Amino acid sequence: MCPGCYKPDHDTYCPNCCKLLFDGKKVSHILSFDTPADDNLSIFQEKTKRLSISGVQLKYSLRLEGNELVLTNKGGQYILKPIPPGIQIAEASQAPENEHLTMQIASRAFRLDTASNALIYFKDGSPAYITRRFDVKEDGSKYPQEDMAQLSGRSKQTVGENFKYEGTYEEIGGLISKYVTATIPDLENLFKVVVFNYVMSNGDAHLKNFSLVQGPMGDYHLSRAYDLMSTVLHMPNESDTALDLYKGDMNVDNEFYAIHGCYGQPHFRELGRRLGLMPVRIERILTNVFVISDEVRSMISDSFLSEKAKKKYLEAYNKKLKMMGLTKTIIFPYQGDEKDVCLTFIRGENITGRFQSMDKSGVLEKDNKYLFIETDKIEQYKKTHDPQLLTLVDGDMLVNIELQ
Ligand SMILES: [Zn+2]
Repeated sequence: MCPGCYKPDHDTYCPNCCKLLFDGKKVSHILSFDTPADDNLSIFQEKTKRLSISGVQLKYSLRLEGNELVLTNKGGQYILKPIPPGIQIAEASQAPENEHLTMQIASRAFRLDTASNALIYFKDGSPAYITRRFDVKEDGSKYPQEDMAQLSGRSKQTVGENFKYEGTYEEIGGLISKYVTATIPDLENLFKVVVFNYVMSNGDAHLKNFSLVQGPMGDYHLSRAYDLMSTVLHMPNESDTALDLYKGDMNVDNEFYAIHGCYGQPHFRELGRRLGLMPVRIERILTNVFVISDEVRSMISDSFLSEKAKKKYLEAYNKKLKMMGLTKTIIFPYQGDEKDVCLTFIRGENITGRFQSMDKSGVLEKDNKYLFIETDKIEQYKKTHDPQLLTLVDGDMLVNIELQ
């Protein structure tokens, strides 16, 4: 299997990965040196009050010399992240593959624009994550890049130790609107990444993990996605997202949050609306999350994670997918008058019956709500048309529909 893209029948990087990572040069997936000895972990942890995976990961800079990757102090073209020497994080040995798998799911299943990446091995056999820097030009100079902490004027000096975790994703949207010329595509990309991070349990997507990069024409745009991983594997008690989606998103008047204590589809629809995206685009992006779920599951199962880590990774994914409910587009094909369906809700309860179409259905469906009549009430409803016999079904709370 290719250690870059999981393509079968390859024992090293496939031609496509060589092209993406090394401009077509054949580079070995085994480095010519051992894991660098470095234990500045305690310094890192002292400096990081909020213990996060990014705070314990060590990063090395690599440069391509001929066909060989070498450690370098300047002119780095690649970033190498070995197994973090963390004693305080779970499943530390799985961190490189976690990041690689999550980045691959982002680019191949979610079709996000991501930094090129692969798994690579030290001479001693231990794995590392490698990614190509997208801010380095062919001549070695750099494209100007500013992250969202810098752009929002947040630093340790201005807001303190946890400055990276202050702010909301809506605010990042505001910064994109302010500095990017082609605003809408980048706002849509931001929205996709935020949805991705939630569904894949990346709780460490802080302000410094979003950047604007200057392109060759001098205009700024949102950079490719980077540093994506399912952090819950290493930090089981971490919050679901590094930043709030928008101010007030956990208010008690938010029905979904009040019931479940976490974000669901209504929060993401609201974020999309606040970012100024068209409802039809928001619907399409959210629907895609469910359409690709089989592909995501098979990528997890094909990955280089240990069996135990695969199980945890998959459990976290399934749990989040459940919290997202189902979208109008997914529910629509089950709405024929003659179709008996069984609905399963987030908390596991089932009801069987038929969706009912009425005058006010269109209005309700805008909020992902539907009228439904349970099987044992159908006869009575046909006679009386008593609206009290109907059940209001919330698509945000549905996890499955099955034709009977
Ligand atoms: Zn490949």
